[in-house]
Amino acid sequence: MEISEACVRVPHDKPYRYQVGDLTVTRGSAWSGPGCHDGCGVLMFTDKDGKLVRVEGDPDNPYNQGRLCCRCLALTEAVNHEDRLRYPLKRDPQFRGDASKWERITWEEAFDTIEERFKYYRDNFGAESVSFWKGTGRDIATYISRLAWSFGSPNLTSGINGIACYLPRVFGCQSTCGNFYVGDYSQQFADRYDNPAWKVPEIILIWGNNPIASNSDGLYGPWITDCMHRGSELVVIDPRLTWLASRAKYWLQIRPGTDAALAMGMANVIIKEGLYDHEFVERWCYGFDEFAERVSEWTPARVAEVCWVDEEEFVEASRAIAAADGMALQWGVAIDQTKEALPGSQAMFSIAAITGNLEKPGGMIVPPELLQYIGGWGSEFLSPEQKEKMLGLKEYPFYRSGVTNASDQLILRACETGEPYVQKAAWIQTSDLLTGTGPDPVRAEKALLLNEFNVGVDLFMTVTMNKLCDIVLPAATYPERNGIRVGDGVQHGETINKAVDGGEVKSDMEINLELGKRFNPEAWPWETVEDMYSYILEPTGLTFEQMQEEAPVYLPYEYYKYEKGLLRPDGQPGFNTPTGRVELWSTFYANLGMDPMPAYHEPAPSPYSTPDKYEDYPLIIITGCRDFNTFHSENRRQEHLRAIAPEPTLEIHPDTAAAYGVNDGEWVWVEGLYGRAKRMIKTTPAVDPRVVATTHGWSHPEAGLENNFDVDDLNINRLLDWDSVGECGVGSNYKSSLCRIYKVTDES
Ligand code: SF4
Repeated sequence: MEISEACVRVPHDKPYRYQVGDLTVTRGSAWSGPGCHDGCGVLMFTDKDGKLVRVEGDPDNPYNQGRLCCRCLALTEAVNHEDRLRYPLKRDPQFRGDASKWERITWEEAFDTIEERFKYYRDNFGAESVSFWKGTGRDIATYISRLAWSFGSPNLTSGINGIACYLPRVFGCQSTCGNFYVGDYSQQFADRYDNPAWKVPEIILIWGNNPIASNSDGLYGPWITDCMHRGSELVVIDPRLTWLASRAKYWLQIRPGTDAALAMGMANVIIKEGLYDHEFVERWCYGFDEFAERVSEWTPARVAEVCWVDEEEFVEASRAIAAADGMALQWGVAIDQTKEALPGSQAMFSIAAITGNLEKPGGMIVPPELLQYIGGWGSEFLSPEQKEKMLGLKEYPFYRSGVTNASDQLILRACETGEPYVQKAAWIQTSDLLTGTGPDPVRAEKALLLNEFNVGVDLFMTVTMNKLCDIVLPAATYPERNGIRVGDGVQHGETINKAVDGGEVKSDMEINLELGKRFNPEAWPWETVEDMYSYILEPTGLTFEQMQEEAPVYLPYEYYKYEKGLLRPDGQPGFNTPTGRVELWSTFYANLGMDPMPAYHEPAPSPYSTPDKYEDYPLIIITGCRDFNTFHSENRRQEHLRAIAPEPTLEIHPDTAAAYGVNDGEWVWVEGLYGRAKRMIKTTPAVDPRVVATTHGWSHPEAGLENNFDVDDLNINRLLDWDSVGECGVGSNYKSSLCRIYKVTDES
């Protein structure tokens, strides 16, 4: 039977495009750009001139059930913005940084120049001399990867130090049980909360995540409150009293960067008190005794001391998690953004395993993927010799386990030193790395300026492109293009449907397809991106055009797949690991020469690992907190979104603010070991007096490019460095650094 025949559809009484009075409505899904991790169902309203005038949530789409967050509601302000890049531009490299020197060129000239220069570097210095940088481009990222690999470069990267976004959790989970698990909020069912097989999680363990603000990967934040309305209790582990933490049964105000210790301590309480699922552990877990031994040193008293949590609350929370009939672990990017990302996520996932919450209604699930995850789509075009040259492969054995991102800090080093080989050019698409996620932007800027030729692709002129690039290409917003949801733990099929004619802008995929054909025609045999989508969709039995009408399309879902032989390629019962069990002692890590079990190392810097530095920088700073209105460096131009959070604030406890003599609304310098940035004081009891917290990605577009949108003063990642990565090259210190503060004055 064709997959499409087995799929569950949501009935539509209208085609994907229809008329309501003077307005044309286009049904579709929302993905980058502007960026987001989700892909909610949207109805896009265009007027008779074809202008986008309104966006509403699609009430028929089970994913968001008619709701939208403010970022999609304010989408017209991004799509119609007068600052949008509308044409390809070029500039003489000697004028990098000077916005007045850009000249409009045709697409043909842009493509011809890029083709000629990139091929020249490939022929004379090797394809590895060109690096490819991608941001959170969601459905776009796949095509950027294929472009890099089919060009022949192994140096594809994300500009987030230590790949510290999402992938560490995926690695930590997969190395334990062979799949990536997500909380069960009924998202795999077309009839959602009404599906009789589903059960509301008794407890949702929210760890390092603020889902209602961030709408993190594959999770629409309001699902959490939907479950709360249906009875879910929360255990929240967060250094900040978030809105959800304030409504939790237990809130553990953890010291930033100590998550692995707390997770091991939690496992220890559950094991010591005999609260684990004995039957599941006996039948389905490997290495339990060794794991129990490893976590035994994490007594409640030690956890309280190291993690700064209340001992009694910690023990009570651990017991509640073990007792829950259905516990969903909702973990966030904070786990990835510590150097302990891998052991931390391994320890957290082990809690879900020993409490028997895998594949259980209201627990943790592996959603079926209509399309296989195609993060590696096109990797076959990278020859073994070129793959061997990927920066990071020699330095970090873990990268040999199938990691497809090169090490970004080693690419920068290659730019600086020419070692192990020279760098000549960079392709920067969907990434404003000097504003957003890259640490130490001063170093990144200097290093990438050493390249002879840099190209950027984005919706607006970014600081990164204006400082570094020689050609920039204007990308389409999602209402201006077609696309499909691919991979990323997606549990249903969706299309992104073009509703607006964007003029000369091209979709990221059209740009990738055109250049891909020029670099390596064999890898890009399609005439149009729609042909390419239909090719990808072939296994589903649906063409792109059919999917446009029929989406969202759901695969049937079954719980307890490990009992039915549905998780392993050999069809045998068990988990997709060498032992067929959940590996609390990971053979995967052991085979790579790594510690097979979770461990905790004190973050560095920290009050305990670097007491001398702590004397000079006596506050722990969390960077990269999420808010409702922005996504990384985006959305600062959208009037109504900006009004929600007009300036970058520093959350600080009132007692600490008083000790420093600073008041709400005052600007301070926040200075760390590597640099400083400005923030506006916001006092709040939501943070520990020893901790301050702030968002990232800030700019003032109103300051103009001549002032680099004030990014040189506002980028909080100036406090961070590129060398602070986890031992295995994964995870980085975004969430637990040290700082001091002082007022912004004329002198300072
Ligand atoms: S989470 Fe918000 S920004 Fe993202 S797709 Fe949904 S409504 Fe749009």
